[in-house]
Amino acid sequence: MARYTGSACRLCRRENIKLFLKGDRCYGDKCAFERRPFGPGQHGQRRGGKASDYRVQLREKQKVKRIYGLLEKQFRGTYFRADRQKGVTGTNLLMLLESRLDNVVYRMGFANSRCQARELVRHGHFAINGRKATIPSQRLKAGDSVEVREGSRSIPPITGAIETVVRRGIPGWIEVDKEKLKGTFKSLPNREDLTMPIQEQLIVELYSK
Ligand code: SF4
Repeated sequence: MARYTGSACRLCRRENIKLFLKGDRCYGDKCAFERRPFGPGQHGQRRGGKASDYRVQLREKQKVKRIYGLLEKQFRGTYFRADRQKGVTGTNLLMLLESRLDNVVYRMGFANSRCQARELVRHGHFAINGRKATIPSQRLKAGDSVEVREGSRSIPPITGAIETVVRRGIPGWIEVDKEKLKGTFKSLPNREDLTMPIQEQLIVELYSK
C-alpha cells in the first residue's frame, strides 16, 4: 500500500493550517507550525499574491486529503462515490471520510493520529462487532462497535493514546468505554459538528471541472 513518507509538519506549513497529524506533539510548543508559520522550502516565506480560483480549490482538496491521510487515487475514488449518493456531494464526501475505520479509531482515542490508527488497524488490533478488522478504509454504519482485541489491550500505542485523548476530546457522535476499550459509532456526525475549517464545495468545484 502506497503511503506518504515525508514530513507531516511540512504538510501543515504548506496548507498554512494545523492539520494535527502528529498526535500529542501538535498540542505542545514543539509544533513546527507554531514555530515556523510559513510555507516550507527556500521560497516559503515569499509566497503570496492573489490566488487563482483553481489554486484555492486545489489547496482545499489537498488540505482535506491530508487531514484524513489519503492519497490522490483513494481520495478521488471517495469523491466519486460521494457524488453518486443522494444529497449534497460535499457533505457526503465528509461523511464517507468520517465513517472510515481508521478515522473512527482515531476519534475514539485508541490512536494518537489517523496515521497511527491506520497502522494499528492493519496490524489487526481491532474488531468491529466482535470480528477482527484489518482494512483501514472499511466503512462503519451507525451502531457498529469497535473494540481493542483481547491481546492488544496493553500495547503502548493504545494505552498511551487513551491517556492523552482528553486534550482533543471524544466527539458527541461516538461513545467510548475507556475501561473496556470499546466504543460505539452512534451515528454519522452532522455537518456542523465537524469543526475543522473545511470548505468542501471548493473540492466539488475542482472535481466538477
Ligand atoms: Fe502539524 Fe504542528 Fe502537528 Fe506538526 S506538530 S503535524 S506542524 S499540527
